[in-house]
Amino acid sequence: MTDFPADGILRRMATILDGKKVADSIYTKLLFDVSLLPSIPKLVVVLVGNDPASETYVRAKTKKAATLGLRSETLTLPSSFSEEDLVKTIRGLNDDKDVHGILVQLPLPKGIDRYKIMHAISPLKDVDGLHPENSGRLAEGNPRLVPCTAAGIIELLRFYSVGVEGKRAVIVGRSEIVGRPVAQLFLMHNATVTICHSKTRNLEKEIRNAEILIVAMGRPKFVIGEMVAPGTVVVDVGIHRTEDGLVGDVDFDSVAKVASAISPVPGGVGPLTIAMLMRNLVQAAQLKSLSQN
Ligand code: NAP
Repeated sequence: MTDFPADGILRRMATILDGKKVADSIYTKLLFDVSLLPSIPKLVVVLVGNDPASETYVRAKTKKAATLGLRSETLTLPSSFSEEDLVKTIRGLNDDKDVHGILVQLPLPKGIDRYKIMHAISPLKDVDGLHPENSGRLAEGNPRLVPCTAAGIIELLRFYSVGVEGKRAVIVGRSEIVGRPVAQLFLMHNATVTICHSKTRNLEKEIRNAEILIVAMGRPKFVIGEMVAPGTVVVDVGIHRTEDGLVGDVDFDSVAKVASAISPVPGGVGPLTIAMLMRNLVQAAQLKSLSQN
């Protein structure tokens, strides 16, 4: 894309990595996959407490499921619910043959060990891909259910024909839901991977070395144009509600001037996280159907 500014200097504008467009293409394929299943997949979202941001995320997920004709139910539990009772509830959902996918919305209230909860979910119904059996398979390079945001980033790059093999991919952030699984997926696709975090020395140097830069650090507009090498492909995972509306971890305006491609916030990675959740749900239903044959 080109831009003709008043000063007459021709500048190349970054390609916008439009997550909605990619998500729509994934939904088209999913509808076909669902039509081949013996029953309509059902998702159960477990929401403990009344964190307003979590309530919004859960509504977005169940609304999308309904739009696609998938079944979903939200189990809302009080913040006083005990860890033991939550494990029992999850075991009940594991045994329920009518439930294909289970998602426990994070964060959980204080006093509940999220690892205990994640480990209680059946790995075959684990649509968030956080059970150690699923993260272990991903680390082996033999993934089954993959964390949604990480899977979404790969789909975004694939859709826009961004080759990953042999590239220097720099990931800022090492969380279990984003940074680590993204790093595993990039390794699987033969990138040369650098993972940065809060103890990384000279972060700017690492960022400047990237050919593909994934930013998942939870710091509004942290990465600015001056830090990024010309031609870098930049994927912004961050989401922050500010007075100026939703912003990412990347300062879009300055980075878009140097990047060859960039994902916007909103409309970049966000729609793909939900699309991948729906894909994981359908995949979990396919796994169940295969195990019955
Ligand atoms: P997180 O668990 O808080 O992890 C943040 C990571 O960034 C940590 O590894 C941390 O390092 C690193 N970090 C923080 N400050 C840093 C700094 N100054 N320099 C270098 N590294 C730094 O966050 P998350 O769950 O991965 O989420 C990251 C962002 O993505 C958040 O804004 C979140 O809201 C957003 N998000 C969006 C979606 C979506 O669908 N678009 C999905 C998930 C998350 P340490 O490990 O050393 O602490």
